[in-house]
Amino acid sequence: MTKEKLGVNTICTHVGEIEDTQFKGAVSPIFLSTSYEFMNVDVKRYPRYFNTPNQEFLSKKIAALEHTEAAMIFGSGMAAISTVLLAFLNAGDHIVLQKDIYGGTRNLAEAHFEKYNIEYTFTEGLKTEDFEACIQPNTKMIYIETPSNPLLKLVDIFSISALAKSKGIVSAIDNTFATPIVQRPSELGIDIVIHSATKYFSGHSDILAGAVACSQTHMDTIWDLAKNLGGSLSDFTVWMLERSMKTLNIRVKAQQRNAKKMAKYLNSHDAVSKVYYPGLKSHPDHELAKRQMTGYGAMLSFDLKEHVDAELFLQSLKLIKPSMSLAGVESTMLLPAVASHALLTPEERLAQGISDRLIRFSVGIENKKDLVADIEQAIQAAIKQKLVNS
Ligand SMILES: *Cc1c(COP(=O)(O)O)cnc(C)c1O
Repeated sequence: MTKEKLGVNTICTHVGEIEDTQFKGAVSPIFLSTSYEFMNVDVKRYPRYFNTPNQEFLSKKIAALEHTEAAMIFGSGMAAISTVLLAFLNAGDHIVLQKDIYGGTRNLAEAHFEKYNIEYTFTEGLKTEDFEACIQPNTKMIYIETPSNPLLKLVDIFSISALAKSKGIVSAIDNTFATPIVQRPSELGIDIVIHSATKYFSGHSDILAGAVACSQTHMDTIWDLAKNLGGSLSDFTVWMLERSMKTLNIRVKAQQRNAKKMAKYLNSHDAVSKVYYPGLKSHPDHELAKRQMTGYGAMLSFDLKEHVDAELFLQSLKLIKPSMSLAGVESTMLLPAVASHALLTPEERLAQGISDRLIRFSVGIENKKDLVADIEQAIQAAIKQKLVNS
């Protein structure tokens, strides 16, 4: 079976399966050994070396989906991100970081890079010129995250990878929001693709994991540090992740179809002032989305109008869960102003375009009519309460 020829659902279901040679069971067995024979064995297997049978085989599925030579599974998205950054950045090196990246990644740079003598610059904007303007003679990596959280802004992946290549700089992307179902950055020239597998790869809000996909050469560099940092994932959870990933394509496609419907519905709602979704023609990066993505993903955000109390709206939801994380088959919403972006001042948030009435919506697989009914009743509750108060 050549991986390239297989359809994406077949890759999800079958690539990286471990054959149960003993009992011919339908699914991969779990190998929990932390100790493997070392006599006459080329590969020294050990969970922290990221090469147990379950780790090694599930990596093949991820590499096949991202169209890369290699992949590796980590204990969390941040374990993957921190390992990649520290693997390529030495003391005295510099990294260009996209503004509006995941809070944990931002915090890693701001709180810890100084002690490693690693320099970093956050871009002013998301245009390629903004990245180019930050490049210094000692820049070793450009790091992007597109679509961004929570405003779903896009970065031109191909032009960033071309810029990096022209300067001999390694490029990396956090591909969590898009997934390889919607966006394959390696085909657009990006060197290293990173995932919080806690999100769509897991898809059921019950696994914490991370993943990296790249060339074997880059993976050798990453592995060399990873085995010492020790951020590997337990084989129990690797096995759970394999099960989850069998439905990655059908889940993401279903969530994406729902997201498009919800974006259109919210866009014409008189309690909503703005919808942020790359699939809408009104989105400033809609044309770029059509070029570099094969869909628009299942994350969107919207601004409630002033006469709706955003916190009360969230509290009034009965089906959609107010929740910090995202990407599960269940729909969740979050108010960045009191959750992911609570540590910023209102002015700082506004500078990023995040109003205190902005709701981030991770669209699940429920029926549209039920999602709409829930949103309608929550809006009504949030308006009425306001009138009673005043
Ligand atoms: C959640 C998330 C991360 C961090 O992943 P963890 O699995 O929580 O460590 C990184 N990037 C993005 C875009 C995320 O949503």
